[in-house]
Amino acid sequence: MNAPAPCRPPASLTFPIYLDYGATTPVDPQVARIMCDFLTDKFGNAASSSHPFGWEARRAVEKARAQVAGLLGAQPGEIVWTSGATESNNLAIKGTAQALAGKGRHLVTVATEHKAVLDTMHTLERAGFEVTFLQPGDNGLVTPQQFRAALRPDTILASVMYVNNEIGVIQPIAELGEICAERGIVFHVDAVQAAGKIPVDLARLTVDLMSVSAHKVYGPKGIGALYVRNRPDLKLQAQIDGGGHENGMRSGTLATHQIVGMGEAFELAGQLLAEESARIRALRDRLWAGIGHLPGVQLNGCAANRVPHNLNVSFPPTRYGTLASQLLGIAVSAGSACNSAAAAPSFVLLAIGRSPETARNAIRFSLGRGTTEAEIDYVIAAIGQVMALDVVADGA
Ligand SMILES: *Cc1c(COP(=O)(O)O)cnc(C)c1O
Repeated sequence: MNAPAPCRPPASLTFPIYLDYGATTPVDPQVARIMCDFLTDKFGNAASSSHPFGWEARRAVEKARAQVAGLLGAQPGEIVWTSGATESNNLAIKGTAQALAGKGRHLVTVATEHKAVLDTMHTLERAGFEVTFLQPGDNGLVTPQQFRAALRPDTILASVMYVNNEIGVIQPIAELGEICAERGIVFHVDAVQAAGKIPVDLARLTVDLMSVSAHKVYGPKGIGALYVRNRPDLKLQAQIDGGGHENGMRSGTLATHQIVGMGEAFELAGQLLAEESARIRALRDRLWAGIGHLPGVQLNGCAANRVPHNLNVSFPPTRYGTLASQLLGIAVSAGSACNSAAAAPSFVLLAIGRSPETARNAIRFSLGRGTTEAEIDYVIAAIGQVMALDVVADGA
């Protein structure tokens, strides 16, 4: 066998290569320009209703509300600003549980949800609620049958993420929503990893509450939204009390610069969605074609029901540790960004039946707007080289 060609970076690449768009994205320059305007010149408080500074800020906030609603197929009045999807998830789940505690105290979710959902559920358990954590299949998906079987007469809320942040699989949200509607159960969806990546149309989904975040969609960190369906019987207990902003659901002076940034980012994502996801899908498929055949490499999560932006792969261990630790100059997540601080293997991969060893050797590649073919080709070459030189062959 020939030795692999030396892996020298072509001059056109800049390092490190960023393949961690699932953790966060850069603010699009077009978005940043508008934000700057609202930090300096247009600094008014949207709640100041007696002068033009306030009116200008209010107009901008309402335009952004329409932009966010537009990407989701919602009405502007159904968008509540929050500090991010962590807060949106807390407000949706705690707010519903507290409002409906007199009706029932059982909730249903999935073991592979984001920590912002799981930890919120654990807090509710300590407050006397009962939570069923569904175990997805080894493809990462829950089935409508298993979901239906978990519902009880006292179930008040179900929370299922649209797209998993680690393995990118797309849950059957439309079917699960139908089941909740039939049973009169409030349905919350964490759509942080779906918005801007796949079409989301709340006009066609029976979803009551949906969480989104700006910084996964080329907007700023620290701003998100909760979609609350306009339905008179849908009530949420506010989690932050104060001036009664956002129809009493979330008090606090609106962060105008953040809000206009999120609005612009979401509108831009809608304009680019079709073209961008086709381009990213081709790059992701190129990456898989370049590494999928290497010995001992396994894909994590369903290959078909997956966003184009995600590839989660387990590698055999190298003689120096995980492959991730050998990939210098390439920014990826080993497991999930939130988990890679801890040495514990990804709970998502364990939940879909991977061994601790396989989970520890996983890499999440998440591609985005800035990803180029040259970067993908470099990553393929780098992985091929590490595997050829350093992987401990069976029986060696
Ligand atoms: C990033 C992320 C969150 C948290 O969003 P923040 O705006 O950072 O609080 C929640 N859910 C999913 C699926 C995510 O990927």
